[in-house]
Amino acid sequence: MKLTSPRGTKDILPDEISLWHEIEQVSRDLFDRYNFDEIRTPIFESTELFTRGIGDNTDIVEKEMYTFEDKGGRSLTLRPEGTASIVRSYLEHNLEHTQTHTKFYYSGPMFRYERPQAGRFRQFHQIGVEHLNTTDPISDAEVIALGIHIFDELGLPDLSVTINSVGCPTCRPVIEERIKQFLGDSITKLCGDCQRRYNEQPLRILDCKKETCRNYLSGMKDIRSSHCQECRDHFEAVLEYLDVLGVEFNIDPKLVRGLDYYTRTTFEIVSNKLGAQNALCGGGRYDYLVESLGGKHTPAVGFAFGEERTVMLLKDLVETYENALKVYMIPLGQPQRCKCFVLENNLRRAGVKCELGTTDNLKAQFKKADRMKAQYVLIFGEEEAERNIGILKNMKTGEQTEVPITKLEKTIKGL
Ligand SMILES: [Zn+2]
Ligand SMILES: [Zn+2]
Repeated sequence: MKLTSPRGTKDILPDEISLWHEIEQVSRDLFDRYNFDEIRTPIFESTELFTRGIGDNTDIVEKEMYTFEDKGGRSLTLRPEGTASIVRSYLEHNLEHTQTHTKFYYSGPMFRYERPQAGRFRQFHQIGVEHLNTTDPISDAEVIALGIHIFDELGLPDLSVTINSVGCPTCRPVIEERIKQFLGDSITKLCGDCQRRYNEQPLRILDCKKETCRNYLSGMKDIRSSHCQECRDHFEAVLEYLDVLGVEFNIDPKLVRGLDYYTRTTFEIVSNKLGAQNALCGGGRYDYLVESLGGKHTPAVGFAFGEERTVMLLKDLVETYENALKVYMIPLGQPQRCKCFVLENNLRRAGVKCELGTTDNLKAQFKKADRMKAQYVLIFGEEEAERNIGILKNMKTGEQTEVPITKLEKTIKGL
């Protein structure tokens, strides 16, 4: 039987990896500039963290978690998202008091048992930020601006922000009542998911992607008309801050996102090039998550984005960045190969990317150097060894020069 990677997972192969590096590098640089610090948390956590943090009634917790019992009988879960772990870490290590600021970021694989489809995997990779302990609407705008900045820097065009406010515990019940009243008897005509959500989380009905459900909701008034004054003020302030930064946004009153913990601001950064699943990045405010995980009242805001989709988009746009070989060495004869092995070692220590050929015939070796896109080839045969020189050939121009072995390192570094 041929072994393959498990369904919904994939290997990231060398021809794609430079895009991943690029995304990670750009993100890290910008997180640093915006004064966010990295936290690395375990890939598995106690199951309770997610049932309490994300919510029992969410799709993630109900259907999508990789939960298992370890040999000690503990229920563990492969993390389906990053925020709950950051909050757990924040509380466990008392970061509110030990850090000068509480702006964090994370990156790494996440796991959800979903139906695999284009751009959606069971092991996927997310990069995210969390700004904890802030009620300030400027923080909402700051993380949105940071998200935009990352995709801008990566060179992704056609970006915009979709934004909404889902209210707070004061006005949420009013919003939910409004949705229930509006739907009335027609709830029986909505999809199974929506019927289940009707009592537990009517807000999530707004999020349903099914055409029939959307049609039934089409005449409903904007939920923002049911917001309390504080939520209205907060939302207005966030929009104002986005405005002064020149960030373009669209208000979508149906944007509630799939996690239970959001309050007030929810947003997505979308690319109009991605089709149906056009969200590149999603986030929002979660003012009660820290409390639900045992901390004191700690409002917070953050976002996460998927690396797979970002790579997919970048692939269409940019040439894979090639970090080509500087020198490919062609030794002729075993003693010369041994000498080249030493030269290669010295060059690498001097910071040069190089590779040593076998003692095959010259033609085959040149072919190999060509395939590896080597910039230079060093030919080193018996005659060259006797004269203590190497022949350096520029693969682009075809120009050949004799270089004394003692000056090889300096010459190559100067190229
Ligand atoms: Zn409110
Ligand atoms: Zn539905």
